[in-house]
Amino acid sequence: MTDSESGGTPIRSGRDSMSAPRYMDIATFMRAPVISDISAFDIAMVGVPYDGAVTNRPGARHGPREVRNASTMMRAIHPTTRVNPYELCRIGDAGDVPFTRIYDTEGSIQDIAEFFSSLSRAGVTALAVGGDHSITLPILRAMARDRPVGLIHIDAHTDTWDAFMGSRYSHGAPFRRAVEEGLIDPKRTIQIGIRGAQNSTEGWDFSASSGMRVVFMDEVARMGIDAIGEEARRIVGDGPTYLSFDIDSLDPAFAPGTGTPEVGGLTAIEGQALIRQCRGVQLVGADVVEVAPPFDPSGNTALVAATMMYELLCLLAEARGLND
Ligand code: MN
Ligand code: MN
Repeated sequence: MTDSESGGTPIRSGRDSMSAPRYMDIATFMRAPVISDISAFDIAMVGVPYDGAVTNRPGARHGPREVRNASTMMRAIHPTTRVNPYELCRIGDAGDVPFTRIYDTEGSIQDIAEFFSSLSRAGVTALAVGGDHSITLPILRAMARDRPVGLIHIDAHTDTWDAFMGSRYSHGAPFRRAVEEGLIDPKRTIQIGIRGAQNSTEGWDFSASSGMRVVFMDEVARMGIDAIGEEARRIVGDGPTYLSFDIDSLDPAFAPGTGTPEVGGLTAIEGQALIRQCRGVQLVGADVVEVAPPFDPSGNTALVAATMMYELLCLLAEARGLND
């Protein structure tokens, strides 16, 4: 039934959002259409506005909205690969995870897991934007229902620490829990960009003893991005792999808007190059987390996050073809 038959008045022209002026209309991720029927999409971009599990500065709950706004700056065709993800896949914005108990950390984790499980059951690839890093554990629960996945984890921190202030689900713990729950294969896991002093070595030790390849920032500087990318592809191999990008992997000069900044990190182009090095990996999902806009009035952190998200979107669109 058309609008005129139903008596309704069409209020939108249905124009192509990629050719309309980019400052107009509702700011969805990348100006992609809002998803109402999940079966009509291949890739869903999802906001996870939750920062109830931070160990220090909050603010990442505001990440998805600011990244949506900044992502209106993104365009379609990749400058080096010439990939146009919108030609390869049907891509939309699935909105935010509908939280039902925001003051309950473990309940919020369940809300996230349920939402991503529904996408996974529908055969849709998810690209998430946090939120603090605690959100990745429930996403992995949804992605790894059948088998553990490999992990490319780009971050200043290993996030393999144990309980903090009585909770096992802080943003410093998701990958320890993911190993314990059999969601990730530590032998197919690489952590890249680790740095910053710690008060104990317990998290670093867990990563190493579980069998993960841990690349501290000084080794990144020594080996160079191309060699690190090669190492990442070798570690994760041909199996299904998740990529988690913590914005604090970048130096605070490029991304100051984050809860736990660490000086001496990746440059923006190194972050892009590292993601580009993951082309060809069987990616089953990805996220960009820890964007805390209140700490960056310039808005640049959200723009950098949107740019990394676009790089990931291109990889996920190509990986859909590899996985089919
Ligand atoms: Mn992290
Ligand atoms: Mn971090």
